[in-house]
Amino acid sequence: MSDVDTRAPDRNLYRMVPSVNDVLRMESVDSLLRLYSREAVLLATQKILDETREEISGAVHTEKSLLDRLETLPEAIADRLRKPVEFSLKRVINATGVILHTNLGRAPLSRQALDHLVETAAGYSNLEFDLETGERGSRDVHIESLLLSVLGEVTNNPGFAGEHRAVVVNNCAAATFLVLHALVKGKEVLVSRGELVEIGGGFRIPEILSASGAILREVGTTNRTRIADYENSLTSNTGLILRVHQSNFSMEGFVEAPDLADLAALGRRADVPVFMDQGTGLMHSLISDVGAAGEFTFSHCLAHGCDVVAASGDKLFGGPQCGLLVGKRELIDRIRKDPLFRTFRVDKLVYAALEATLAAYFSRQSEQIPILRMLKAAPEQIRERCERIVDGIDSAAVSISVCDTESVIGGGTTPRAKLQSYAVSLRDLKIDAAAILCALRRFDPPIVGRIQDDQVLLDLRTVEPDSDSTLIRALNRIMQATSETAN
Ligand SMILES: *Cc1c(COP(=O)(O)O)cnc(C)c1O
Repeated sequence: MSDVDTRAPDRNLYRMVPSVNDVLRMESVDSLLRLYSREAVLLATQKILDETREEISGAVHTEKSLLDRLETLPEAIADRLRKPVEFSLKRVINATGVILHTNLGRAPLSRQALDHLVETAAGYSNLEFDLETGERGSRDVHIESLLLSVLGEVTNNPGFAGEHRAVVVNNCAAATFLVLHALVKGKEVLVSRGELVEIGGGFRIPEILSASGAILREVGTTNRTRIADYENSLTSNTGLILRVHQSNFSMEGFVEAPDLADLAALGRRADVPVFMDQGTGLMHSLISDVGAAGEFTFSHCLAHGCDVVAASGDKLFGGPQCGLLVGKRELIDRIRKDPLFRTFRVDKLVYAALEATLAAYFSRQSEQIPILRMLKAAPEQIRERCERIVDGIDSAAVSISVCDTESVIGGGTTPRAKLQSYAVSLRDLKIDAAAILCALRRFDPPIVGRIQDDQVLLDLRTVEPDSDSTLIRALNRIMQATSETAN
């Protein structure tokens, strides 16, 4: 066959690719086994063969060029083995427009949080060491007073910090479990039937309750629960009243739930603690303009008299993954003494990132926090960035333009909230949208977009502006590759 036969059916070319075993038997590959483990050589070989097959499917090869490529297989494998291990966990560009994307790691950390984390984690720290006395200290002190001052400021209660304590655990699910385990112990927990929810990732309130040893006492109905429903269910065996934020769904129509303040007052009268699984960790009600007006803030729950409140650190709070637990002194002290408290302990990286995130709230510089910047980004600015990206792409293969879209907050928060936004839209009948999305995911760094009405959309609300040039590079590269394929 001549090497001008560029239209050779792919299948013929695929047949020329040797098997892994054939390659491993080659002398020059076999010698690599003296330097590297068999597993490593095997993986590298597989990877190179996969890449070769991908090149064939991308119509990159003629028979001649494929033969050349096959000849250099041993060198390619050796090169691959010399490279440092490619990390599995890597940074990606989130162009989905979902601000808190649980699959993409929820809240990115602020620059200040990263600096503090690197600074303290690179060496030893006073994590549990009191620098005044030179004696053993407690890791909670690093965030407790800062968190209480930030919350106290918002609650407008000068005695707040004195009456409350704060602890940190792995995540909000652990925080909720721990509260039930430490405070209830075989007693009944009153929960509205409208709040027996699944938060996601298998976190179901009834299951958490039973695993903690608490007994579920359902009150009210799915759509309407009144204060009298709680009141009528109180017995001497009631250990807790639990309120759960309906974070990932909303009910409309004939719905009713008692005011938090009324529920808290009932708890005080009956001498039963009221615990709110607030979830989102929203600190300031700054998203009234995005359809999340009624969204409870963390401090709102405390100001209205809840005895203990739990929230995630990596949702609307904008910090590292953790569970924040704030409550009345006596209750938090009981939680700290629970033997399970130790099993939910968080490490120094979390304390460092959390402390710096809290400092941003404390010094009123919440614009340091990436998700709050994204929430507040003006649609006009997002559109201008989209336009600059579109101007930077020259492509005949795909029609590329700016379109309006809506971003969402996500992460199991505020399902009703929509933010007006703009996206770069890629549309073409010749190239499948899913194939473009896939090529974007393979870029380094990977770019995650979404498909809507057969278009690929890259919503820039969730992309840091310093990544715009990376998007331009990726799109040009992909467009070039696809137009070569299409020709
Ligand atoms: C998200 C959420 C949780 C789970 O939080 P994690 O930090 O992911 O464990 C629990 N409760 C509510 C109300 C939530 O919104």
